[in-house]
Amino acid sequence: MAKNTTKEYDAELNKTIFDIKHQRTFCMIKPDGVMRGLVGEIIHRIEKTGLKVVAMKMLTPTEEMVKAHYPVNNEKWIVRLGSKAKSGLDGLSLSAKEVYGTDDEKALGENALAGLIQYMQSGPVVAMVVEGIQSIDMVRKLAGATLPFKAEMGTIRGDFSVDNPIVANVEGRSIHNLFHASEDTEEAEHEIKLWFGGETICDYSLGSDDIMYCKHY
Ligand code: UDP
Ligand code: MG
Repeated sequence: MAKNTTKEYDAELNKTIFDIKHQRTFCMIKPDGVMRGLVGEIIHRIEKTGLKVVAMKMLTPTEEMVKAHYPVNNEKWIVRLGSKAKSGLDGLSLSAKEVYGTDDEKALGENALAGLIQYMQSGPVVAMVVEGIQSIDMVRKLAGATLPFKAEMGTIRGDFSVDNPIVANVEGRSIHNLFHASEDTEEAEHEIKLWFGGETICDYSLGSDDIMYCKHY
Protein backbone atom coordinates (compact mmCIF):
# COMPACT_ATOMS: atom_id res chain seq x y z
CA MET A 1 0.00 0.00 0.00
CA ALA A 2 2.72 2.41 1.03
CA LYS A 3 4.72 1.48 -2.08
CA ASN A 4 1.73 2.16 -4.31
CA THR A 5 1.21 5.54 -2.69
CA THR A 6 4.87 6.41 -3.31
CA LYS A 7 4.61 5.27 -6.93
CA GLU A 8 1.49 7.37 -7.45
CA TYR A 9 3.28 10.34 -5.93
CA ASP A 10 6.27 9.79 -8.23
CA ALA A 11 4.02 9.63 -11.28
CA GLU A 12 2.33 12.85 -10.22
CA LEU A 13 5.65 14.57 -9.58
CA ASN A 14 7.01 13.38 -12.92
CA LYS A 15 3.99 14.86 -14.65
CA THR A 16 4.45 18.15 -12.82
CA ILE A 17 8.12 18.32 -13.84
CA PHE A 18 7.21 17.37 -17.42
CA ASP A 19 4.59 20.14 -17.50
CA ILE A 20 7.06 22.71 -16.14
CA LYS A 21 9.69 21.71 -18.71
CA HIS A 22 7.17 21.85 -21.56
CA GLN A 23 5.29 24.98 -20.59
CA ARG A 24 4.19 26.85 -23.71
CA THR A 25 3.74 30.53 -24.27
CA PHE A 26 2.68 32.66 -27.20
CA CYS A 27 4.65 35.65 -28.41
CA MET A 28 4.63 37.91 -31.41
CA ILE A 29 6.99 40.33 -33.12
CA LYS A 30 4.72 43.28 -33.84
CA PRO A 31 4.68 45.18 -37.18
CA ASP A 32 7.28 47.75 -36.03
CA GLY A 33 9.63 44.91 -35.00
CA VAL A 34 9.29 43.26 -38.40
CA MET A 35 9.65 46.53 -40.32
CA ARG A 36 12.76 47.47 -38.34
CA GLY A 37 14.44 44.20 -39.25
CA LEU A 38 14.49 42.89 -35.68
CA VAL A 39 12.98 39.44 -36.30
CA GLY A 40 16.32 37.61 -36.13
CA GLU A 41 17.54 39.59 -33.10
CA ILE A 42 14.37 38.92 -31.11
CA ILE A 43 14.23 35.21 -31.93
CA HIS A 44 17.94 34.96 -31.13
CA ARG A 45 17.29 36.36 -27.64
CA ILE A 46 14.56 33.78 -27.04
CA GLU A 47 16.75 30.92 -28.29
CA LYS A 48 19.82 31.99 -26.31
CA THR A 49 18.01 31.31 -23.02
CA GLY A 50 17.55 27.63 -23.91
CA LEU A 51 13.86 28.10 -24.72
CA LYS A 52 12.66 26.53 -27.95
CA VAL A 53 10.47 27.90 -30.77
CA VAL A 54 7.95 25.12 -31.55
CA ALA A 55 5.66 26.94 -34.01
CA MET A 56 6.08 30.09 -36.08
CA LYS A 57 4.41 32.01 -38.93
CA MET A 58 4.32 35.47 -40.54
CA LEU A 59 1.03 37.13 -41.38
CA THR A 60 -0.75 40.48 -41.35
CA PRO A 61 -3.48 40.23 -38.70
CA THR A 62 -7.06 41.16 -39.52
CA GLU A 63 -9.09 43.43 -37.25
CA GLU A 64 -11.10 40.38 -36.22
CA MET A 65 -7.96 38.50 -35.13
CA VAL A 66 -6.61 41.48 -33.18
CA LYS A 67 -9.93 41.87 -31.37
CA ALA A 68 -9.99 38.16 -30.57
CA HIS A 69 -6.38 38.29 -29.38
CA TYR A 70 -6.71 41.09 -26.82
CA PRO A 71 -9.32 40.93 -24.02
CA VAL A 72 -11.23 43.84 -25.58
CA ASN A 73 -14.37 43.22 -23.54
CA ASN A 74 -12.57 43.00 -20.21
CA GLU A 75 -13.18 46.28 -18.43
CA LYS A 76 -10.42 45.62 -15.87
CA TRP A 77 -7.88 45.19 -18.65
CA ILE A 78 -9.11 48.36 -20.41
CA VAL A 79 -8.81 50.36 -17.18
CA ARG A 80 -5.29 48.92 -16.74
CA LEU A 81 -4.42 50.12 -20.26
CA GLY A 82 -5.68 53.55 -19.24
CA SER A 83 -3.58 53.54 -16.08
CA LYS A 84 -0.51 52.61 -18.16
CA ALA A 85 -1.29 55.49 -20.53
CA LYS A 86 -1.56 57.76 -17.49
CA SER A 87 1.76 56.54 -16.13
CA GLY A 88 3.36 58.07 -19.23
CA LEU A 89 3.04 61.28 -17.21
CA ASP A 90 5.38 60.00 -14.49
CA GLY A 91 8.17 62.52 -14.00
CA LEU A 92 6.50 65.16 -16.18
CA SER A 93 4.73 68.23 -14.81
CA LEU A 94 1.62 67.70 -16.93
CA SER A 95 -1.84 66.46 -16.00
CA ALA A 96 -3.83 63.77 -17.80
CA LYS A 97 -6.55 66.35 -18.48
CA GLU A 98 -4.05 68.66 -20.19
CA VAL A 99 -2.60 65.95 -22.40
CA TYR A 100 -5.49 63.58 -22.97
CA GLY A 101 -8.46 65.83 -22.24
CA THR A 102 -9.58 63.40 -19.49
CA ASP A 103 -8.15 61.57 -16.50
CA ASP A 104 -10.74 58.79 -16.59
CA GLU A 105 -8.76 55.53 -16.91
CA LYS A 106 -11.52 53.68 -18.75
CA ALA A 107 -11.75 56.44 -21.37
CA LEU A 108 -7.94 56.52 -21.65
CA GLY A 109 -7.90 52.73 -22.00
CA GLU A 110 -10.52 52.76 -24.74
CA ASN A 111 -8.53 55.38 -26.60
CA ALA A 112 -5.31 53.32 -26.26
CA LEU A 113 -7.19 50.22 -27.43
CA ALA A 114 -8.44 51.93 -30.61
CA GLY A 115 -4.83 52.83 -31.50
CA LEU A 116 -3.62 49.35 -30.60
CA ILE A 117 -6.14 47.67 -32.93
CA GLN A 118 -4.88 49.79 -35.86
CA TYR A 119 -1.21 49.31 -34.97
CA MET A 120 -1.49 45.53 -34.89
CA GLN A 121 -2.95 45.45 -38.41
CA SER A 122 -0.40 47.86 -39.86
CA GLY A 123 1.92 45.22 -41.30
CA PRO A 124 3.15 41.67 -40.96
CA VAL A 125 3.83 40.13 -37.57
CA VAL A 126 5.73 37.00 -36.62
CA ALA A 127 3.66 34.79 -34.33
CA MET A 128 5.36 32.07 -32.29
CA VAL A 129 4.81 29.39 -29.71
CA VAL A 130 7.78 29.05 -27.37
CA GLU A 131 8.34 26.10 -25.07
CA GLY A 132 10.52 25.50 -22.05
CA ILE A 133 10.89 25.86 -18.29
CA GLN A 134 8.61 28.65 -17.08
CA SER A 135 8.51 30.02 -20.60
CA ILE A 136 5.62 32.38 -19.81
CA ASP A 137 7.56 34.34 -17.20
CA MET A 138 10.83 33.98 -19.09
CA VAL A 139 9.47 35.52 -22.30
CA ARG A 140 7.77 38.31 -20.33
CA LYS A 141 11.16 39.07 -18.75
CA LEU A 142 12.79 39.12 -22.18
CA ALA A 143 10.07 41.53 -23.39
CA GLY A 144 10.43 44.08 -20.58
CA ALA A 145 7.86 46.60 -19.37
CA THR A 146 4.98 47.62 -21.65
CA LEU A 147 6.01 51.27 -21.94
CA PRO A 148 9.32 51.45 -23.81
CA PHE A 149 10.65 54.39 -21.79
CA LYS A 150 10.18 52.31 -18.63
CA ALA A 151 11.53 49.00 -19.99
CA GLU A 152 14.90 48.02 -18.53
CA MET A 153 17.98 47.93 -20.70
CA GLY A 154 18.74 44.31 -21.58
CA THR A 155 15.11 43.67 -22.51
CA ILE A 156 13.75 43.66 -26.07
CA ARG A 157 11.60 46.72 -25.51
CA GLY A 158 14.28 48.51 -23.45
CA ASP A 159 17.11 47.92 -25.89
CA PHE A 160 15.31 48.55 -29.17
CA SER A 161 12.47 50.99 -28.52
CA VAL A 162 11.81 54.32 -26.89
CA ASP A 163 8.28 55.70 -26.80
CA ASN A 164 5.80 57.26 -24.40
CA PRO A 165 1.98 56.98 -24.64
CA ILE A 166 1.68 60.75 -24.34
CA VAL A 167 3.75 61.35 -27.45
CA ALA A 168 1.90 58.48 -29.17
CA ASN A 169 -1.46 59.92 -28.19
CA VAL A 170 -0.67 63.40 -29.51
CA GLU A 171 0.58 61.80 -32.71
CA GLY A 172 -2.68 59.81 -32.94
CA ARG A 173 -1.12 56.34 -32.70
CA SER A 174 -0.43 53.44 -30.35
CA ILE A 175 2.90 53.25 -28.55
CA HIS A 176 5.36 51.17 -30.56
CA ASN A 177 6.90 48.50 -28.36
CA LEU A 178 7.96 45.80 -30.83
CA PHE A 179 6.86 42.63 -29.09
CA HIS A 180 3.94 40.84 -27.45
CA ALA A 181 4.14 38.02 -24.88
CA SER A 182 1.38 36.16 -23.00
CA GLU A 183 1.09 37.31 -19.40
CA ASP A 184 -0.13 34.08 -17.75
CA THR A 185 -1.27 30.51 -18.48
CA GLU A 186 -4.81 31.56 -19.32
CA GLU A 187 -3.61 34.10 -21.88
CA ALA A 188 -1.06 31.65 -23.29
CA GLU A 189 -3.71 28.96 -23.81
CA HIS A 190 -6.12 31.40 -25.42
CA GLU A 191 -3.50 32.91 -27.73
CA ILE A 192 -1.93 29.60 -28.81
CA LYS A 193 -5.39 28.28 -29.68
CA LEU A 194 -6.32 31.47 -31.52
CA TRP A 195 -3.15 31.75 -33.66
CA PHE A 196 -2.19 28.09 -34.02
CA GLY A 197 -5.41 26.16 -33.33
CA GLY A 198 -5.51 23.02 -35.46
CA GLU A 199 -1.91 23.54 -36.65
CA THR A 200 1.13 21.44 -35.85
CA ILE A 201 3.18 22.35 -32.81
CA CYS A 202 6.60 20.76 -33.39
CA ASP A 203 8.23 18.31 -31.05
CA TYR A 204 12.03 18.14 -31.13
CA SER A 205 15.05 18.20 -28.81
CA LEU A 206 17.76 20.82 -28.66
CA GLY A 207 21.38 19.66 -28.53
CA SER A 208 21.85 21.93 -25.51
CA ASP A 209 19.17 20.02 -23.54
CA ASP A 210 21.77 17.35 -22.73
CA ILE A 211 24.02 19.91 -21.06
CA MET A 212 21.29 21.97 -19.47
CA TYR A 213 19.18 19.17 -18.01
CA CYS A 214 21.41 16.11 -17.55
CA LYS A 215 23.69 15.41 -14.64
CA HIS A 216 27.10 15.53 -16.31
CA TYR A 217 29.38 15.44 -13.28
N1 UDP B 1 -0.58 50.14 -25.20
C1 UDP B 1 -0.59 51.42 -25.73
N2 UDP B 1 -0.66 52.47 -24.87
C2 UDP B 1 -0.75 52.32 -23.55
C3 UDP B 1 -0.74 51.01 -23.00
C4 UDP B 1 -0.65 49.93 -23.88
O1 UDP B 1 -0.49 51.60 -26.95
O2 UDP B 1 -0.82 53.32 -22.82
C5 UDP B 1 -0.48 48.97 -26.13
C6 UDP B 1 0.93 48.36 -26.19
O3 UDP B 1 1.20 48.01 -27.53
C7 UDP B 1 0.80 47.14 -25.32
C8 UDP B 1 -0.62 46.69 -25.65
O4 UDP B 1 -1.34 47.93 -25.68
O5 UDP B 1 1.80 46.18 -25.61
C9 UDP B 1 -1.27 45.74 -24.68
O6 UDP B 1 -1.20 46.26 -23.38
P1 UDP B 1 -0.88 45.36 -22.10
O7 UDP B 1 -1.23 46.18 -20.91
O8 UDP B 1 -1.51 44.03 -22.21
O9 UDP B 1 0.71 45.28 -22.15
P2 UDP B 1 1.69 44.07 -22.55
O10 UDP B 1 1.10 42.79 -22.05
O11 UDP B 1 1.84 44.10 -24.04
O12 UDP B 1 2.99 44.41 -21.84
MG1 MG C 1 -0.81 42.10 -22.15
